[in-house]
Amino acid sequence: MQNGDYMVRATALDGRVRAFALNATGVVSELQRRHGTWPAVSAALGRTAMGALLFSAATLKEEDQALTVEVKGGGPAGRILATANGRGEVRGLVGNPQAHADSRNGKLNVAGVVGTGGYLSVTRDLGMRETYQGTVELQSGEIGLDLAYYLTKSEQTPSAVAVGVFVLPDGSVDAAGGYLVQLLPGLDDDEIAEIERRLGSLPHPTSLVKEGVGPEQVLERVFPDGFELLDRYPVRFHCPCSRERFTGGIVSLGETEIRRIIEEEENDTTEVVCHFCNQAYHFTREDMAAILEAAR
Ligand SMILES: [Zn+2]
Repeated sequence: MQNGDYMVRATALDGRVRAFALNATGVVSELQRRHGTWPAVSAALGRTAMGALLFSAATLKEEDQALTVEVKGGGPAGRILATANGRGEVRGLVGNPQAHADSRNGKLNVAGVVGTGGYLSVTRDLGMRETYQGTVELQSGEIGLDLAYYLTKSEQTPSAVAVGVFVLPDGSVDAAGGYLVQLLPGLDDDEIAEIERRLGSLPHPTSLVKEGVGPEQVLERVFPDGFELLDRYPVRFHCPCSRERFTGGIVSLGETEIRRIIEEEENDTTEVVCHFCNQAYHFTREDMAAILEAAR
């Protein structure tokens, strides 16, 4: 259920560790349904979307700021992209939703559809035309490791990221969740070793979500001596597209291009589909004439 999705933000060891964990079963289910993704792609897109939500929780300061994770691995799924904002809303898209790669050891072959030869980039849109982008080469194509590598390499914060999606035989998403743990300066070697040992002893993220281990319970396992819960807020799929936005988008194409669209359109209505949510918007010939007028 989408309304069961939430993120927790916490610190441990006197603020020298930052931790984030989320349940995103509803979000990833909705992405799967809207894009009609096949299992390995559902996992790849879901992991990317959870990465965008976790990174947003870790770095965005304002609700209107946004963060995009883009993965181009050269595999059959094509480009995978997810954008989340400071309100915990996320949307995503994938080049080829019906890509497939044979399972490996009974597990979804995420790297098989993502590919391993490209890069992962993160763009932070902080508003007022202020954006920051960082890019790293893909390490595994499994997304989780690649997200951790990005934070460690590009943001110089040693980080562990785990994101898991469990897909049922019928292709629907049964569970999705993950966590992010960041080591800040001031930890001694023994403390770091202990955290790494506990993270290393956790089951695979997909097993955690399958077993119903919730965000707080994940943190309890990593920090058995306690942690401070700073925030708990809902996360959800949301696409801000609307008929008005698409109307404005067509107007901005300019008179010549709009005339071309009207002339080439064989049907009575022009259909525009949002790539992020697959919502279709229809514009009649009268609508298009009015849009052409507005573009003059
Ligand atoms: Zn949309």
